[in-house]
Amino acid sequence: MLLLLAFLLGGCGNPADPVRLQGRAIGTTYSIVAYGLPDGLSQDDLHKGVDQVVADVNSVMSLFKSDSELSRFNAYRGEDWFPVSKELAAVVQEAKDVNRITGGAFDITIAPLVNLWGFGPDKRPEVVPTEAEIKAAMADVGSDLVEVRFDPPALKKLKPGITLDLAAIAKGHCVDAVSSWLKIRGVSGFMVEIGGEIRTSGQKPDNTPWRIAVEKPVSMERSVQALISLSGQSMATSGDYRNYFEIDGKRYSHIIDPSTGRPITHTLVSVSVVDETCSRADAFATGLTVLGPERGIALAKECNLSAFFIVKTPDGLTETATGDFPQHEKMN
Ligand code: AMP
Ligand code: MG
Repeated sequence: MLLLLAFLLGGCGNPADPVRLQGRAIGTTYSIVAYGLPDGLSQDDLHKGVDQVVADVNSVMSLFKSDSELSRFNAYRGEDWFPVSKELAAVVQEAKDVNRITGGAFDITIAPLVNLWGFGPDKRPEVVPTEAEIKAAMADVGSDLVEVRFDPPALKKLKPGITLDLAAIAKGHCVDAVSSWLKIRGVSGFMVEIGGEIRTSGQKPDNTPWRIAVEKPVSMERSVQALISLSGQSMATSGDYRNYFEIDGKRYSHIIDPSTGRPITHTLVSVSVVDETCSRADAFATGLTVLGPERGIALAKECNLSAFFIVKTPDGLTETATGDFPQHEKMN
């Protein structure tokens, strides 16, 4: 899990003070800072409402709940249409779109490989799988092997062994779902963060933008690489520096390249993406991370994605920003 810190101004004991909420969400934690609660909406209502939105997303997309919609679809071995919620169909369609744009690097059918390498819900010892095991798992990977329909919403496997892992997009989607609920309830300005993925909306009372930190991509400490300002956009970050295991000094990341069936091994250590929705930012952050420094930066430039790449070199960390990635203050 990546941790991004939100830096906020605010005194105490006056109406401009923010409401701060924290809780658990989809296998990680959430934190929310909100200004301008409408009359009649208490902090307790807000907390209960957010927890309900998070629980609803969990019951659709969690792989750790055997009765979630996603787990039931994964367990289904038929090749006809499987009815799902509009929400699940939309996230799978967005994932398929990002799969196409990233040339297959972002792929939610990666689930068998994620499990094989020990990062999925199937508990496995930290061992390097055999070539034969990797090949067998790769046979059931490919986003073209799952189809989406909206009217009525349903998913279809073109191969019975296809299973989905939405971990690389679900946190972003959950941030969007909480944000929509806050907007509908009339909260005028807020920042929602789930497991490091962030969305901002509206203004703070002093009209300054939200200040968000990009974490330094090192595993032994938590410090800030860069500070950026956001006004109404989302930011998501992927990297290989938190979730991995090591055998004989070699690091095996939780992010897997679908073209090799193996964890990424390149020098790109962190990618942050700013986008309108947090689900798109989340998916692209993972996809660009899989592509690596050269192909990732080239694709971000070609598609005008607002991204921030941190690459490890013998001389330290180098930064590259693409598209409209916000001006940032360097902290190193
Ligand atoms: P994130 O932290 O958003 O980059 O998501 C990483 C998680 O997504 C991993 O823990 C896996 O569950 C899953 N994943 C790994 N590789 C891929 C990939 N190439 N495409 C989509 N999801 C992936
Ligand atoms: Mg992601």
